[in-house]
Amino acid sequence: MCKKDILFIDTALAVQIPYDSADSSIASHTISTAQESGWIWDIGLRTRRGVGHVYSSKHSSQERAEQLLRDYLAESIGDKAKDLSFRKIDINPGVREKFRVNNCVAVGMSAGFLEPLEASALVMIELACASISEQLPANRETMDIVAKSYNDKFQYNWDRVIDFLKLHYVASKRADSAFWRDNRDPETIPESLQELMSLWQHRSPSEYDFQRKREMFSAASYQYVLYGMDYNHSIETGFVSDDVQRKAANCLPKTSS
Ligand SMILES: Cc1cc2nc3c(=O)[nH]c(=O)nc-3n(C[C@H](O)[C@H](O)[C@H](O)COP(=O)(O)OP(=O)(O)OC[C@H]3O[C@@H](n4cnc5c(N)ncnc54)[C@H](O)[C@@H]3O)c2cc1C
Repeated sequence: MCKKDILFIDTALAVQIPYDSADSSIASHTISTAQESGWIWDIGLRTRRGVGHVYSSKHSSQERAEQLLRDYLAESIGDKAKDLSFRKIDINPGVREKFRVNNCVAVGMSAGFLEPLEASALVMIELACASISEQLPANRETMDIVAKSYNDKFQYNWDRVIDFLKLHYVASKRADSAFWRDNRDPETIPESLQELMSLWQHRSPSEYDFQRKREMFSAASYQYVLYGMDYNHSIETGFVSDDVQRKAANCLPKTSS
């Protein structure tokens, strides 16, 4: 199932940047910098930096994306940024409709790939390995039952990753380009996320908002993003449809006057 209508990022430009010297300082965290049609990652590895620009090809030309990456790199390596060539990687964001069929299970990249804003690929692989090993069907009779349960669980997990990724774009107030404005178009926001964000205009994300024992992201993860983005706890933000706002309002506890 293609997810490009929700997560627009579909192209990456990547480059390796050597350090100036063996004792150059190394950033201890990945630096992600928003751009007009995507974002740039900057990962400090032991012997070099891995830097790249992921963007939506619907919202940006390759030339513009290259220019923005070059401008970003020029801030740290100066004129050397002019001569760099970038490796282009096409991304087809999407997940399988079924991850497990009979005795075949899609794990890792074979199950799906979304943009890399919140690194969730490895935990998904770990969850898959745990689920496969702990719930190995005892015989052919139970194989389909286990497969159904597995498919439901991983469909749910992927949906939560999609919601969590989309949250970053929806919570942003950035409006200087079509990419950011389009990301807040209710048509592109899963209803599950619309409902939660509607609730979160009135209170913080809570463990009660999620259904599973093993959630991909805890309520605290959502809180970090919302507080970090200075999410406006006002009903006036207007990205949620009236219908969803009404539904969410019905879920809120009634206060007596
Ligand atoms: C720079 C970078 C940083 C990342 N950071 C994170 C992170 O912080 N957290 C996170 O969760 N994820 C991260 N990821 C994503 C994560 O690494 C991948 O999603 C994960 O490794 C995918 O695992 P995989 O086994 O499905 O595929 P791969 O790791 O790609 O393994 C596929 C293997 O199959 C082999 N192969 C391919 N074709 C054939 C063939 N025809 N015959 C035999 N063998 C073949 C390949 O050589 C490879 O060894 C990152 C990815 C990159 C590139």
